[in-house]
Amino acid sequence: MPIQILSPSVAAAIAAGEVIERPASVVKELIENSLDSGASSITVELQQGGIGSIRVTDDGSGIPADEVELAFARHATSKLTEADDLTYIESLGFRGEALPSIAAAGKVRMVSRPADAQGAASVELEASKVLRRQMLSAAPGTSISVDDLFMVMPARRKFLRTPIAEGARVKDVVAHMAMAYPSVRFTFYADDRLALQTPGNGAVRDVLAVLYGAETATVMLEIRPGERSPYGVSGLISPATLSRGSRSAISLFVNGRWVQSRSLVIAAEEAYRGYLTQGRYPVAALFLQVPPAEVDVNVHPTKREVRFLREGDAFSSIQRAVRETLLATSPIALVSAPSLTTDYVESVAPSLPFTSVGPESQPALLTPPASGDMSAAERPVEEFRMPLLRVVGQISNTYVIAEGTDGLYLVDQHAAHEQVLFERLLKEWDGASPQSQPLLDPYPLELTPEEAEAVEQALPVLERYGFLLEPFGGAWLVRAVPAVGRPVALAPFVREMLTVVRDKSMPMGPPERALAASIACHSSVRAGMVLDRQEMEALLEQLEKADNPRHCPHGRPTTIHMSTGMLDRQFHRV
Ligand code: ADP
Ligand code: MG
Repeated sequence: MPIQILSPSVAAAIAAGEVIERPASVVKELIENSLDSGASSITVELQQGGIGSIRVTDDGSGIPADEVELAFARHATSKLTEADDLTYIESLGFRGEALPSIAAAGKVRMVSRPADAQGAASVELEASKVLRRQMLSAAPGTSISVDDLFMVMPARRKFLRTPIAEGARVKDVVAHMAMAYPSVRFTFYADDRLALQTPGNGAVRDVLAVLYGAETATVMLEIRPGERSPYGVSGLISPATLSRGSRSAISLFVNGRWVQSRSLVIAAEEAYRGYLTQGRYPVAALFLQVPPAEVDVNVHPTKREVRFLREGDAFSSIQRAVRETLLATSPIALVSAPSLTTDYVESVAPSLPFTSVGPESQPALLTPPASGDMSAAERPVEEFRMPLLRVVGQISNTYVIAEGTDGLYLVDQHAAHEQVLFERLLKEWDGASPQSQPLLDPYPLELTPEEAEAVEQALPVLERYGFLLEPFGGAWLVRAVPAVGRPVALAPFVREMLTVVRDKSMPMGPPERALAASIACHSSVRAGMVLDRQEMEALLEQLEKADNPRHCPHGRPTTIHMSTGMLDRQFHRV
């Protein structure tokens, strides 16, 4: 075939394919237009996940009657005039491509009226051609409906999923737009059913309450304005006690635009190191403010990806803001995952910072790292006493540095405290019955039917170890918890208890060991927590008295020892 310039309709279809992938992309573009028009209320209605029809209605500025058709011309926009403007994009749209692309992909009807106009202009298009125009009466604002999406593009239609799956993607778009614009009221109907409605009162927390439930929204931590973050960050993040099994609840916004950014998601995740176990992810809505000139949103036709002039600054802004908020507001971080093997320290402890150390002068773990095939229950209690230790300081808010009779000792504060509490619990339980700590406010547990059944079965075991649970309507009230000293976050804690009680394959042996380990884990100081001298002294003193001070209940080392002899060799003194 000779080279030819594509006909305008083929070119339009190709361009449409770039912007309009599925119903969710149509909805995203239409909502962006509504937001750019200053709307304070936006309603999205779908039939069959948007494959049948989509309608987006707003109460924004409207379009003058004589511009209604022009809006559907390619590269027609009211938001940009000079190429220079591209460096300072502050509106959501700017490419002038959405409406023409949508008109190439389905049947479109737009009704629009500026507030000061007498009537509304209506225009109907099919395959990019205007079929009908008329004036009618309508409320101020704009309403655009799209029917039979991709009917004219069978190749694209083939790639659509089920109406339910497509509808879920649309809901995801509406949800994120609602987070980004909390002062706009979003209403979303799927097949005539109200599926989502946000209050539009300006509070992100209230949007999250709609999306994730009130229980989650109330505990979310507000990002504190970080002093050391290169760019401004605001938003809400979950405390360590609340987490999810996937990254899907981490939402990122750059200058008000919902973006997909692997690197920023990693930044948020990194900040939770030591707070969440592997495979658990936070809930977060994070808003990064970057000077418009330092971010390129024109990377991708759908504007979902952005490029930063200073990627590292964007990364560290998110990472620091989240980390500082966590450290400042939840000094007692708890692990909320059901897994008992906790904490990132695990991967750090056995490898030491000296790479040049030869095998014979290797700093010694007090015992070799626990090998995988040997669980804590099987390891015999060793006749070993910690030397008396003098606190020197703390590093990384995670390790206590101490001096002993023979050199330097590094103590993992979490592992050490865990072991101390573990032994204390077992000793208490050995003689008397466990101590219970009544709660001032009984704590209601929202449980799945399966979990509720598990509670019922586990009740005798739980009560034997200090829990008091009471049926309440269809739910359960926690009235008392084992008395271990430190407050615990109840929901994840009780959930983990259930897992422990239910899971017969626990490597810990008898159920009380597993329970004690779990309670100890939840009640001990965490990595990342600043300890004062007194706290460090108390911790080391307790560790000195422990029966088996070298390991935590999961078998991780609590202490690393570098003998004076080893230090002398390292510094070539001998
Ligand atoms: P862009 O948003 O990139 O400018 P679009 O094709 O999405 O391009 O829209 C073209 C133009 O139509 C916009 O610049 C705007 O002037 C007008 N427009 C589209 N939707 C609306 C709306 N809901 N309210 C007011 N004006 C609108
Ligand atoms: Mg637009």
